[in-house]
Amino acid sequence: MQRHLAVGADIGGTNIRVALVDKSGRVRSHWRERIGEQRTPGQVAQLLARGALEVCRRAGVRINQTAGVAAGLAAQLYGTKGWVAVAPNLGWREVDFGTAASAALGRRVQILNDLDAIALGESAFGAARAKREVLVVFAGTGIGAGLVLGGRLQRGAGSLAGEIGHVKVRPGGRLCGCGQRGCLEAYLGGANLSARLRRRARRDWPELLRASGALDEINPGTVEKLFRRGDPRAAALWRELAGMLGLVLANAITLLNPRALVVGGTVLRGCPALWHLSRQVLEEQVLAASRRDLEIVPARLGDMAGVKGAAAFLLGQDLC
Ligand SMILES: [Zn+2]
Repeated sequence: MQRHLAVGADIGGTNIRVALVDKSGRVRSHWRERIGEQRTPGQVAQLLARGALEVCRRAGVRINQTAGVAAGLAAQLYGTKGWVAVAPNLGWREVDFGTAASAALGRRVQILNDLDAIALGESAFGAARAKREVLVVFAGTGIGAGLVLGGRLQRGAGSLAGEIGHVKVRPGGRLCGCGQRGCLEAYLGGANLSARLRRRARRDWPELLRASGALDEINPGTVEKLFRRGDPRAAALWRELAGMLGLVLANAITLLNPRALVVGGTVLRGCPALWHLSRQVLEEQVLAASRRDLEIVPARLGDMAGVKGAAAFLLGQDLC
């Protein structure tokens, strides 16, 4: 038996990535495929099964000798059986993906929220290695968090723990993809922020268009560029958004008392000035005693965090 090996997968809106991972976090074999137009739950389940069998074949391992198959999915899940409430990048709503994936492979496939998988990956093998109390927050297209406490992933009563993107920062404010108003993600999520910037470029902020070259090229990085040039509107927007993010993070840390805060995602990675301002707000607003032993570190595993974390879920929580 090869119980020190597990198959981890990461299902995004564009690509599916599968790897055979060992207990030390080493990738033994790796497979990636574009998710094209064939993106029904059944079709993605077939892709996942193909990838899982392929990484085992390449490593010369039989899949039923491994600790199993788990996949991180950018979705709000209900419960622990892989029922998807909504997966916006794939256009899924109310889908039993866990059953579809298990049927395609002929054995049980565990489905995790993508940030839960990333949190486990960074805790077991990455930026927060050997830390048992870890909050991982990613701001990319959307915003999410994963939480490891006492060395164990905390998924919440309905697998919804960590939905930090839907913490309210302006009650009654901007409409969010979740259907509610005033969520952090409605302001700071990359997709929502880019859409807002494109509207402003046409209305009252033409410098955005000049700095990016084309309307559909405008993104949070354009504001970062203008901020560095001293644009007052960029400074005002970054202060507004940093105030929201910094306060949400400070409150989360005050509530949970993690040892490490791991941050990542394209918006924070691509906008260091925004992160710098957010961190200042965090430091001002967090309970001083909670700040004392807190390490704030960037995510380290990059694109492999999800697959490694999904594998870590099967290989044992004692990795964290
Ligand atoms: Zn929301």
